[in-house]
Amino acid sequence: MAISIDLTDKIVRDDVDTRIKAKTTEKKHLIGLPKSELIEALRSIGIAEKQLKMRVSQLWHWFYVRGVSDFADMHNVSKDLRQKLDENFDISRPEIIEEQISNDGTRKWLMRFPSGGAGKPVEVETVYIPEDDRGTLCISSQVGCTLTCTFCHTGTQKLVRNLTSGEILSQLLVARDRLGDFPNKDTPTGGIIPSSERKVSNIVMMGMGEPLYNFENVKKALHIAIDGDGIALSRRRVTLSTSGVVPEIYKTGEEIGVMLAISLHATRNELRDVLVPINKKYPLEELLDACRNYKGANNARRITFEYVMLKGVNDSLQDAKELVILLKNIPAKINLIPFNPWPGSEYECSDWEQIEKFADFINQAGYASPIRTPRGRDILAACGQLKSESERLRKSERLALESQLMASMIAGHGET
Ligand code: SAH
Ligand code: SF4
Repeated sequence: MAISIDLTDKIVRDDVDTRIKAKTTEKKHLIGLPKSELIEALRSIGIAEKQLKMRVSQLWHWFYVRGVSDFADMHNVSKDLRQKLDENFDISRPEIIEEQISNDGTRKWLMRFPSGGAGKPVEVETVYIPEDDRGTLCISSQVGCTLTCTFCHTGTQKLVRNLTSGEILSQLLVARDRLGDFPNKDTPTGGIIPSSERKVSNIVMMGMGEPLYNFENVKKALHIAIDGDGIALSRRRVTLSTSGVVPEIYKTGEEIGVMLAISLHATRNELRDVLVPINKKYPLEELLDACRNYKGANNARRITFEYVMLKGVNDSLQDAKELVILLKNIPAKINLIPFNPWPGSEYECSDWEQIEKFADFINQAGYASPIRTPRGRDILAACGQLKSESERLRKSERLALESQLMASMIAGHGET
């Protein structure tokens, strides 16, 4: 098949027209608050007790069904109340610093969140991956990560801070704004689109950071994403990926109830201790026990095991065999991820032939094992390549890496 990749297809929109300026404000942000906290916020500005519930329903609808980000657009709320809300609270979106569109349709946004009472201002990357039957948004939960998985770019960056529930959820709202999932939201009847036509049909907590080290905020954000009165994503279309924080895996099943993905990457403790160092604290036996007991997991709702293919490290047929033995009696899916290189990484991606042999073996053992085609590599949007602005590449380094990645995609995959 002929392949044509032209880096000029990439659109970098950081010009003034599309730059969306956020209001810098220290007013309390209402996006991402659970209904109980919204009630408290409204009570604190003197909304009558008997009106509180109705007002919360009203706001919820405007925030999450219509997608408004300005009180002025709430047409069925009196002018006085809108003014009062605006004086006390903030519902604005973060500033979009950069929007990149890959030649495969993947998009990446760099958003800046002001401190908003949550510590220092931070910049966060969020990635959208369109496919034939779905559109998946990859959301970040932290800036940087305390864990130091040796193949992961984010792992080289110290934790800057946890994101608030509002910042986590805002990534979804911004993506929906930019993709047209809240059409004409500033008109009295706008904002609503049938869920079957939405661009963002799925979300995965697979961006920067370890979501289970920011459990409460992730939980609040995901509860809002699946709330039937608002965004109403199905729980089955929401996946949380973890490196293996065992106690919080149990809590995730009990308290959030979304799909689970485990970054496994090795079948022996000795190797996993190196690749995913949290394994020293929660070794494979404990991790797999937590998976066996994950609430709601069954053959229709399988746990995804992610396995990054590292040349000469974890990609032998012996590894494939051990993987199959390890996952016995767990309702599992295996996702093979070709390693995405980044500047300075010490690993190489397995040869394509080897990945196929590995996949064939686990297929024969009864697992549908899709090899996840790297998406958006040209804009450094693939798994493990996200890193915040504070440590981003200089332009020259970036262009060199982009050309190198393009070459490896063509050589390795024969398709894009
Ligand atoms: N911290 C969580 C979620 C973010 S990482 C976790 O570790 O699961 C999302 C996925 O990308 C994980 O499976 C991670 O192991 C994988 N990943 C990280 N770096 C990668 C790289 N360079 N190439 C391919 N996959 C990578
Ligand atoms: Fe953190 Fe996940 Fe990267 Fe490990 S793979 S360093 S847990 S973001």
